[in-house]
Amino acid sequence: MSARAALPEGVRVLVRGWLHGNTTLLDAGGASVVVDCGYHVGSGELRAWLGEADARLGHVLLTHCHSDHAGGVAALEEQQPRVWASVASRALVAEWDERGLWLGHSGQELPRFEVHESLTPGQILRLGPWCIEVLATPGHMSSALSFYLPELNLVITGDALWERGFGLLDPWVEGEGCFQGAATALAVLARLPSDTLVIPGHGPPFLGLHHAVGIAEQRLERLRHDRREVRRQILASGLGFLKMARPELGAAALAGAEARLLEQHPL
Ligand SMILES: [Zn+2]
Repeated sequence: MSARAALPEGVRVLVRGWLHGNTTLLDAGGASVVVDCGYHVGSGELRAWLGEADARLGHVLLTHCHSDHAGGVAALEEQQPRVWASVASRALVAEWDERGLWLGHSGQELPRFEVHESLTPGQILRLGPWCIEVLATPGHMSSALSFYLPELNLVITGDALWERGFGLLDPWVEGEGCFQGAATALAVLARLPSDTLVIPGHGPPFLGLHHAVGIAEQRLERLRHDRREVRRQILASGLGFLKMARPELGAAALAGAEARLLEQHPL
């Protein structure tokens, strides 16, 4: 069974519904660390939240560079944090590879930003008092990372693991290897202690890591063998995202977005 758990001292999480990936703040009075930043339309709210915490921003770590996780980075640039992402994510951002960044998925918008530092799986980062182990958790995005803080017994999983599933798998963009990638990510996370607190990319933090991995493995097994269902989820998610991000759009615009998604994801 999953259960809610208190966050360790110095850790805060901003959970804002499905349009915005969660933001985690690791604050210990010095240069603080932010993991993921939400979608760009919520940048004002993000800045206000950081201001309320009176956090002096030193570093931004990205689990991956999709618009709902990296959208707020540009708005934090005035505080001059060092921005960290995986080597491959950094390259996608440097080249501004719109396909690789999934910006074709229903016209998602991502203000341009710069990544300053590369992260490699297995790396142990020491930022202020925080010890952060970098884990490779591909699948949803082949260059995605999770961040494990062994001293706090906490893992930040992005879209590799949620309480009931994980982020979309899109073999049309990420390649057929995304299914095996997701399996690898779940195996990596399953090796962590069962009482590890999980801060997922969407939804509230939870306990019950191994239970969640079991749910995700079952879902992955279904998706592996059902390409129509994979595409149905991409359509539903793309259109759902668009409706949340741009509620003013009418039926014709939504139908146009659906047609583009179908064209990009032929069966
Ligand atoms: Zn994502």
